[in-house]
Amino acid sequence: MRLIAYSKALYSTWVYYSPDRALFDAGEGVSSVLGNKCFAIRHVFLSHGHADHISGLVGLINIRNNAMGDTEKPLTIYYPRGNWRVSELMNYLWRTNRHLRYQLEWVPLSDGERVQLFGGRLPRYVEAFKTVHSQDEHSLGYNIIERRERLKEEYRALPQEEILKLVREKGRAALLEQYDKKLLSYGGDSIPLDPRKVEETDLLLHDVTFLDEEERKEYKHATLEEALEVARQARVQQELLAIHISSRYQFKLREVEAKLRELGLPFKVTLLPPGKVLSRE
Ligand SMILES: [Zn+2]
Ligand SMILES: [Zn+2]
Repeated sequence: MRLIAYSKALYSTWVYYSPDRALFDAGEGVSSVLGNKCFAIRHVFLSHGHADHISGLVGLINIRNNAMGDTEKPLTIYYPRGNWRVSELMNYLWRTNRHLRYQLEWVPLSDGERVQLFGGRLPRYVEAFKTVHSQDEHSLGYNIIERRERLKEEYRALPQEEILKLVREKGRAALLEQYDKKLLSYGGDSIPLDPRKVEETDLLLHDVTFLDEEERKEYKHATLEEALEVARQARVQQELLAIHISSRYQFKLREVEAKLRELGLPFKVTLLPPGKVLSRE
């Protein structure tokens, strides 16, 4: 899956998914790492208003106006409705960027709201879902969803010739049903996600601030064990990518990953090393 990601608990988190030109969170350093790719970003989805998830917007909005590139491409920033920290930053950015060459839009979202990414015959969209972070902080996670088609249940066991015959008789559309497939699920730095919200996603990006439960002082964020449990219950199809890992663990990660491989889990687990850029372009 094509993405570029950076995540270090407390410092900065952002994930750029290039096929949909979507940036999830915008922690510090996002524009300096992405460089000219900043112009490709079309949508920014903010999980909440903590500085380590939004401070990169200051640079991103400015660089889109001033660097060498297509400075007229519009940019839309989606954020959890009612999040006061994001609103404060939005006001600051409006006041300090009055003459942007491109169209910048801010769109609040609530649990369950969808944003269409492509308007083809079968649409693709991002759906927001509610997460739980801290008390005065409205937070959201996001699923990238693709509408797909498959044979209706009653036809699936039929031999190929039989199906072709039915297509000729009834037409293709009569045999097909549409369903939604989650490609990527991004949970920000929430406590363990509700597995139903990220059910059967291909790639789950889940908070793993703590590798050990003893190091968690209050019930915030998630542990590796909790993230694995969410991924198991959600029947993650391909990979759990652990983000928001505390830098105290940076020298332990290889060892932990090796242990995880021994468990023979039905999905791959990757621990995103804090302070390093992960690039799968
Ligand atoms: Zn955070
Ligand atoms: Zn946070």
